[in-house]
Amino acid sequence: MNIPFSPPYINEQIKQEVLDSLDSGWITTGPKVKKLENEIELFTNAPRVLCVNSWTSGSILILKWLGVGEGDEVIIPAYTYAATALSIIHAGAIPIMVDINNDFNISASNIKKAITPKTKAIIPVDIAGWPCDYDSIHELVREKSNLFSPSNTIQEQLGRILVISDAAHSIGATYKGKDTGALTDISIFSLHAVKNITTAEGGAICLNLPAPFNNDELYATLRCYALNGQTKDAFTKSKAGSWRYDIVYPGLKINMPDVLAAIGLGQITNYKTQILPRRQDIFKAYNQFFEGKDWAIPPIYSMNKSISSCHLYALRIKDIEEVQRDQIIDLISQKNVAVNVHFQPLPLLSLFKEMGYDIKDFPLAFNQYKNEISLPIYPQLKDEEVKYICQTVSEAVENVMTLNTIKA
Ligand SMILES: *Cc1c(COP(=O)(O)O)cnc(C)c1O
Repeated sequence: MNIPFSPPYINEQIKQEVLDSLDSGWITTGPKVKKLENEIELFTNAPRVLCVNSWTSGSILILKWLGVGEGDEVIIPAYTYAATALSIIHAGAIPIMVDINNDFNISASNIKKAITPKTKAIIPVDIAGWPCDYDSIHELVREKSNLFSPSNTIQEQLGRILVISDAAHSIGATYKGKDTGALTDISIFSLHAVKNITTAEGGAICLNLPAPFNNDELYATLRCYALNGQTKDAFTKSKAGSWRYDIVYPGLKINMPDVLAAIGLGQITNYKTQILPRRQDIFKAYNQFFEGKDWAIPPIYSMNKSISSCHLYALRIKDIEEVQRDQIIDLISQKNVAVNVHFQPLPLLSLFKEMGYDIKDFPLAFNQYKNEISLPIYPQLKDEEVKYICQTVSEAVENVMTLNTIKA
């Protein structure tokens, strides 16, 4: 067997949607993007959804709208993909990293300690598709609102820190019975090729701001900002007699094209009925197998009315160091099963090291990383492949453990 890590899910319906866009005479932002935005609104109960060309650009857009700048701080977990931090740097602010909990997600008590009058936003990350503890995060944001020091009218109207959830992994997950997408002020899904729903590259920004903000008006503003600050999109402008436009913001150019939205439309119609349930079945099959192994720490599928979107299967191996984990991955790879590690904590990466972040300040992030192995999880996997992966991982772990006992 040869098992890739995360091939995209493409079926006939998806191909038909793409062909439909290609044949329609309109391939960039237009009706298919609108339809995808509406589908995601229905799916998540978010008041408005704006699609852009990536999670990263969506996060930059929101931080620019909030008006963060030099000296401002945005709190993130040390355990995430680099884009979470890079979007803050691109918006001109400083990422403040904090340590995590045993469930891989940002620790609310560490957020609390990191809040200063310079804190403008928090970006919790739903690692692997498991939602963060948003009730605690909202409570501490309220508690600390006396510290908040607004520097423009948007921040004044909000009167507190903005909560932007990095929901890159968690479309389809629920937190205490509610869907991700409408849990925080802003949630951003990634629609990158490896994510649960994809448009090859893309992002979906869910707008859920409280009054006095109007999410429809905000949608219109951000949509314009995402297309060079131009008052008419190319689709509207292409209609006869509709040529004149204005530029009203120093906008970005991050709109999603229709031909890519078509892939997402083909996927989202099958997501709740086929793609997500299959991911969940595989996750549960892995858990059943690894719960029987005394060396395994299986990830959380559900707890307290929260359910994972099963984006990653983040298995941890008890009592091993980084070297042993790497040896286990080598053995698994020799059997042609592609596995991964999610994530290298940001302070281990050169850029962040050079910026002065030190892994010693994030002991839990390092502990979660050093013995973590992400197993393949996607709807195309067959039951016998899941069994083969379980056997392969189990043999590799037991081989490396025996080897180490002999050496000791
Ligand atoms: C994939 C990912 C991103 C970035 O998504 P893009 O759409 O590629 O910009 C951000 N955060 C996390 C946690 C991710 O896994």
